[in-house]
Amino acid sequence: MSNNNPLAGHFRTPKVYTSIPSGGKFYTSDVVDMPTTGELPVFPMTAKDEIMLKNPDALLNGEAVASVLISCIPAIKQPRKLVSNDIDALLVAVQASTYGDELDVGADCPQCGEQASAILSAEVVLANMETLDKNYEFTTNTGLLISMKPFSYETSVKAGVANFRSTRSLQSIDAIEDEMDKIKAFNQNFIELASLNFDILVDSINAITVPSDQDNDPIVVKDVEHIKEFLENASAEIGTQLEQFIEEIGSKGIQKKMELTCVKCSEELPEEEEFTFESAVNFNTVNFFTAS
Ligand SMILES: [Zn+2]
Repeated sequence: MSNNNPLAGHFRTPKVYTSIPSGGKFYTSDVVDMPTTGELPVFPMTAKDEIMLKNPDALLNGEAVASVLISCIPAIKQPRKLVSNDIDALLVAVQASTYGDELDVGADCPQCGEQASAILSAEVVLANMETLDKNYEFTTNTGLLISMKPFSYETSVKAGVANFRSTRSLQSIDAIEDEMDKIKAFNQNFIELASLNFDILVDSINAITVPSDQDNDPIVVKDVEHIKEFLENASAEIGTQLEQFIEEIGSKGIQKKMELTCVKCSEELPEEEEFTFESAVNFNTVNFFTAS
């Protein structure tokens, strides 16, 4: 940018510095140019960034988040290649850098369905984040060693789009009168979601190792096509184990579970008693930014 601009001294400056759950260990410097301190400078959003985050299409297809991250965190070069856990933390940092430390979060009360809200400190949320291991491994009951990694933001966007489509098509399926057509449409929807889950599974696997035996050395399989073929032919039990493992990895990073108080349900309790429940609050952008 032109440094002879008399207004240059008034350009935005980073307001927050944050580490990320992965510590940058999955990335080459063309994805994230990780500073040696491990803390990324985070600039406040511009007016253009804010507009981007109000565009429903751009939110759904990931473009809003990708462009805001590039604008606010210059060290990030290819946001779609980041793991989802990092994206969650970085969006908290962007929010804090732009609007200050207080984050409004909420979740639906399990008893009455009303939204219960709470205020969190972004600084506390970021300081307490859990870090990711380089590798997550588990052994199947047939002795294969499966090495997994957190899935990318790109994959998480795909999942979001598929869920959105699925919800919409379930709504339209409801309107179909003919029972057979209804079942057909329902099956189609189911197949699409299953295929997406399969893609997430494939994306989450680093390598599968066949253990050594008397005659052979261990074999490490990294070929995506070989992994796909294995998953297509593996028992359902392995699929379930893998999915549980992916969910566990996905929950690492910033703490999303917290205790919330429902004002409405508390009013029906004796004085000085409160109705509280534990829930995962949504830090995801779509709800995150449109809620305020
Ligand atoms: Zn309630």
